[in-house]
Amino acid sequence: MPYCVRCGAKLPEDEEARFCPNCGAPLPQEVRRDIAKKRERELLHVAPLRRRLILASFIFLLCILATCFGTLTRIEEGEAQAIVSDFNEIEKIIQKAGIQLIFGNNMMYCLAMFIPFVGPAGGFYVLYSTGKVLAALSHVQGYNPLFLFLMVMACPHAWLEYISYSLAISESIWLSFFIIKYRYRGLRVEIINAVKCISLCAILLLAGAIIEMALITSVSKIAPI
Ligand SMILES: [Zn+2]
Repeated sequence: MPYCVRCGAKLPEDEEARFCPNCGAPLPQEVRRDIAKKRERELLHVAPLRRRLILASFIFLLCILATCFGTLTRIEEGEAQAIVSDFNEIEKIIQKAGIQLIFGNNMMYCLAMFIPFVGPAGGFYVLYSTGKVLAALSHVQGYNPLFLFLMVMACPHAWLEYISYSLAISESIWLSFFIIKYRYRGLRVEIINAVKCISLCAILLLAGAIIEMALITSVSKIAPI
């Protein structure tokens, strides 16, 4: 607890304060800096790891549901054909360009999901659209859409991607929360966590891209497309 150097009164823990509320003496720079540092340390405890994990797990479920919802969407013949032909084009490009393209693409989506306020909506839309691709594929190829969805979820890279997207969306929510509640100071504290999260997502998505490429190559060896 800081004290006024002139009158010895207790100073408020408010970094905006410039003067002692008791005697009006200006607060020295280092006192104000100490108060600011203390407030920042307090902010770090607002969102402990346990709360972050709970939110991320909840978002993970919502991400799966978004794709599931897309998979079960009723889809017209024409739209299904269009989505499938786009999908086949992308598959061809992926087979040529490989890991960089898969990683680059997923990382781009993931980074967009980190953006405060708008990231979650965009993220859920992307995951819903992924489900729609599955709906279109199953429509054209005559599979049960849920079967196709389970096939995708049986692949390890899908899990790595969904974990990354859940981390990104929940970090966007934390960033938004800290910005609303503590403004610039909150952003400064939370940005460190965001950077850690982005690095973790990059590692997970890179591992996912390597696995996905390995799966695509082995499948195309067995059944050349
Ligand atoms: Zn004073």
